Amino acid sequence: MVDPVRDADEIARFEAAVVRGPGATDCWIFTGAIGGDGYGRFWVYREGRRIMLRSNRYALALARKGEPLEPWERSLHGCDVPLCVRPSEAGDTGRPRHVYAGTQRDNMEQMGRSGRGGGRVAVRRGNAGLLARKERSVALREAVRHGWEAEAVADALAVGHPTLW
Ligand SMILES: [Zn+2]
Repeated sequence: MVDPVRDADEIARFEAAVVRGPGATDCWIFTGAIGGDGYGRFWVYREGRRIMLRSNRYALALARKGEPLEPWERSLHGCDVPLCVRPSEAGDTGRPRHVYAGTQRDNMEQMGRSGRGGGRVAVRRGNAGLLARKERSVALREAVRHGWEAEAVADALAVGHPTLW
């Protein structure tokens, strides 16, 4: 749970690490730490304990404006960009473009659509797939280091052939 008042400093720290694409449909990229899985890492303190969260999960909790995120709610990506932290409701297509809450079942369906997990390719690639995802995230973070540069972002998203995860 992220409280807009109690956690104001923490929220400011998170938002300082986010570069927002200028377009109505662009991703918002988290530029803080990146884990071995290619997802952003954001640390928070709750009741004296330091807790590590994926940046997309924090973004989703933040979007709730004080309402808690349930433990079974997964933070999923319609855009398939692990560093994206743009909360998104279902659009014209009926599917959210960016970060949204879903169940584990929704997660499996999303992975199926984007070619991640489950299939033969993903099993064979295994660790190589994870490394490619991390490589792509690092490239993307670098691409927005001095603000959003559309060409650099497109190049970074092409790293590691994401459809083969
Ligand atoms: Zn996105």
